Amino acid sequence: MKNKQHYLFIVIFFLLSAYTVAEDFKVIHQLTGFSETNCYLIYDIKSKEAAIIDPGLYPDTLIHFIKDNNLTLKYIFLTHGHTDHVYGVPEIRKEFPKVKVCMSKVDYENMFTQFQWFKDTYGQWLIDRERKNPEHKAYMDFDPHLIGIPDIFIENNQSFELGSLEIKAMNTPGHSPGEICYYTKNILFSGDVLMYRTVGGVTTQGGSKGELIKSVRQLYKMFPDSTIVYPGHGEVTDIGSEKNENENITLDKENMQ
Ligand SMILES: [Zn+2]
Repeated sequence: MKNKQHYLFIVIFFLLSAYTVAEDFKVIHQLTGFSETNCYLIYDIKSKEAAIIDPGLYPDTLIHFIKDNNLTLKYIFLTHGHTDHVYGVPEIRKEFPKVKVCMSKVDYENMFTQFQWFKDTYGQWLIDRERKNPEHKAYMDFDPHLIGIPDIFIENNQSFELGSLEIKAMNTPGHSPGEICYYTKNILFSGDVLMYRTVGGVTTQGGSKGELIKSVRQLYKMFPDSTIVYPGHGEVTDIGSEKNENENITLDKENMQ
């Protein structure tokens, strides 16, 4: 039995990494797919209640982790409705039928038109080219109906309990109109709004440069410099260094295309 546990640990070690080991909670990270989307699992150590943020490709790794650690998956929090951030929802929902899927209503609705939007905006030739990559093809063939209706359409400032943690949601539009950042204690899951030395693109369905600038500045003003930022893509960062060194948007100037 000991050997088996040891073996499982090694397998998980290669696929997942633990970012934060605080006294009362942990954050586990999984890098998924060709667009290198960050998926996170946060759990309260005492109650073992867990939430996934943005499940992408290969959700079975997380499913195994949850089962092996006897966690109770309470929520799936989606930062936005782009396929690389939601791809794993149907499989996880099937495994854990009681889990509550939470996202904004506008991004849920846009999931059904985003493929057509992409085709109208960029043309069939780009779709044909992208489909040659098997992982991108999987994203493009993804049917949002498989997700089912979300349990909770998030309102600005809505909060959720996860064991002793309070997870708060805030509207941060710009990269997508219904993008949501989630925060608890000294950490912020920033989706595709704020990333290490960059910000999310706005050439997306419903994207808005003006809104994104506002959202990023809202994050800079709202959180202390020491706040750890777990972004939707790229490496971990913090509010203080982005505020000063992010060339796209600092606290007082922007340089976005
Ligand atoms: Zn996105």
